Amino acid sequence: MINKVSTKKSEFGIIETYFKHLTAQKDVLLGIGDDAALVDFSGDASTHLVVATDTLVSGVHFPEQASADLIAQRALCVNLSDMAAMGAEPHWFTLALTLPKENAHDDWLFKFSQGLCSVADRYNCALIGGDTTAGPLTITLTLLGEVSAHRALTRGGARPGDSIYVTGMLGDGGAGLEMIRNSDMVKDSSERARLVKRFYSPEPRIAEGLTIAAVASACIDVSDGLVADLTHICVQSGVSARIHSDKLPIHNRIKTDYSSQCLNWALFAGDDYQLIFTVPQCHLELVERWISTNVLEATKVGTVAVADNSSVRVMIDGMPAMAAKKGFDHFDC
Ligand code: ADP
Ligand code: MG
Repeated sequence: MINKVSTKKSEFGIIETYFKHLTAQKDVLLGIGDDAALVDFSGDASTHLVVATDTLVSGVHFPEQASADLIAQRALCVNLSDMAAMGAEPHWFTLALTLPKENAHDDWLFKFSQGLCSVADRYNCALIGGDTTAGPLTITLTLLGEVSAHRALTRGGARPGDSIYVTGMLGDGGAGLEMIRNSDMVKDSSERARLVKRFYSPEPRIAEGLTIAAVASACIDVSDGLVADLTHICVQSGVSARIHSDKLPIHNRIKTDYSSQCLNWALFAGDDYQLIFTVPQCHLELVERWISTNVLEATKVGTVAVADNSSVRVMIDGMPAMAAKKGFDHFDC
């Protein structure tokens, strides 16, 4: 969650005011405002094209001294995560690379290419084009994928009474970022390696997205923190959410070693790239069966409720999320 614009205007305000109105066209099934756009590209009623773009800027989304292979892995993983959040299967991507002159040598470029290749191979994605320019290190990827018609997971389908689930573990992204900023934080080398991996190659939940596409009513990936991203689901679905902090899936090491910070990381820190999804009552039994038989790694963390008139969308243990945040500063997991 180190990626927000630093101008006085908010990122979402800029998009809403200056860009959102450009999206309206008959063949744009879902335009600006979700994890990816959906396009009816061929008049083929059974499949839609899914398109998502994400940019990583040196010093903003990754430390300036990060190695080229890790930067490339992170760039592709976080982009793939938006495909996962749509329940889509990724196929192709383009790469717009802005490169400082000091990075334009074989060693850096070889590592960057290797990092990209390792993730692209794992998720069966082909690089099909892009652009290369000189300037401050900036990486923009556009992912293209497909989803079966009416299977796309959007942010707008959650309904009161639905259950809220999250895949995998929360809090590793926040801990990883903290560790990168403060190199003395983690002494144990295997835990260091685990957190470096979680930060630089967060596993895009493509398989999980495809599994839940048949049953979930809404979905988003956790790039900015559970509360921030769940708020997007709530606003776009016209609902509110109730989260139980004792149900949040947090890795044992994080709970033990950082008991006073772990809840804040899990709820507010971001960079976890897990999926938050909502499930209507009629599909609960199936989802619970998938979880108990290890078909799906997910945890129920709360429920969707009716939105009242207040602007508060996410409640944690009965408290507005921001009020809960202050309490968690002194909270042991
Ligand atoms: P995510 O965190 O899933 O990557 P963002 O918060 O970055 O999503 O973006 C929210 C929505 O706004 C997305 O639908 C994205 O495509 C759209 N968006 C962001 N920036 C722009 C822009 N400059 N022009 C048009 N659409 C944009
Ligand atoms: Mg997203």
